[in-house]
Amino acid sequence: MKNWENNIRKVVPYVPGEQPKNTNVIKLNTNENPYPPAPGVKKALESFDTDRLRLYPDPLVGDLVQAIAEVFQVQKDQVFVGVGSDDVLAMLFMTFFNSDQPILFPDITYSFYDVWADMLRIPYEQIPLDDSFRIRPADYVRPNGGIVFPNPNAPTGELLELSEIEKIIAANPDVIVIVDEAYIDFGGVSALPLIEKYDNVIIVQTFSKSRSMAGSRIGFAISNPTLIKYLNDVKYSFNSYTMDALTIALGTAAVKDTAYFEETREKIIKTREWTKEQLRELGFVFGDSKSNFIFAKHPKVSGEQLFEELKKHHIYVRHFSKPARINEYLRITVGTDEQMKTLLDLLREILPK
Ligand code: PMP
Repeated sequence: MKNWENNIRKVVPYVPGEQPKNTNVIKLNTNENPYPPAPGVKKALESFDTDRLRLYPDPLVGDLVQAIAEVFQVQKDQVFVGVGSDDVLAMLFMTFFNSDQPILFPDITYSFYDVWADMLRIPYEQIPLDDSFRIRPADYVRPNGGIVFPNPNAPTGELLELSEIEKIIAANPDVIVIVDEAYIDFGGVSALPLIEKYDNVIIVQTFSKSRSMAGSRIGFAISNPTLIKYLNDVKYSFNSYTMDALTIALGTAAVKDTAYFEETREKIIKTREWTKEQLRELGFVFGDSKSNFIFAKHPKVSGEQLFEELKKHHIYVRHFSKPARINEYLRITVGTDEQMKTLLDLLREILPK
């Protein structure tokens, strides 16, 4: 081994869901939105002056921050924007998880959390979900260096009531609590109002799911101005110009169209509930997902086998082989009615009679 090997920051990276080159597949594996972005996004793209690309983008991402602040009825200094909520979350880990005590997150959750913690040398403890894959707030009352969890949780889709979230926050006044609301728009109630009541809460959301903009990479955090200032100090010590000028323009158009947002998220919720009924008839077992995916297993066919069989027929879903507790499950993104019909027809053929 070379001596320099000892000084390398060795990490085991997060593995995102597959993005197949073939566009002829039904893609239900990365929780993207099946509907296009709001019509204003296309208009903003068409009217974008390419001469602006000569210049650096606005490091403060002012237009987009302003638009988000208006939609969420907060002040501009309460909003932080990043290149996808992955970027926002990584910055949050770097800024606020800097203690010798372990941070806490569920054992079954977004599989990027342990990757960031490992990379940033943040000690962590993974708190087991209960037998129905639910977070138990009482388990988060123990010494810790911070807390992060998605609501609804991923990949389970289980929603924690606002009162339960508040219990976690109230019990931990000395650390920062991050609520990752990537999927909140599909049937949950945002914990955003809690930022008024508690000074240690940060809400994170994304444009990737309910706003159909996964390809543009836009995420944001909302909190009190003090925490946002600490976050910005770290961000601007790392890289000032993360979001490009075109994305700022497109994201601003996307968030402004609240009517389109309501329309598409309601369509997805409706399709999800219909798909649940159909899956139940087919014998699948799953919780009451409030996200844009359903986390389901079938008592007669293994998760792996179903995953492979669907893939053979050009339907991509997500299967996690680890941890063992979830390896019989498939995480199926809710697509259009038509896509779900195709999936269900195929399942009817594949499943043993
Ligand atoms: N949080 C959770 C719980 C997620 O599932 C995802 C999507 N992979 C993200 C954050 C990140 O999404 P994005 O970076 O596209 O905003």
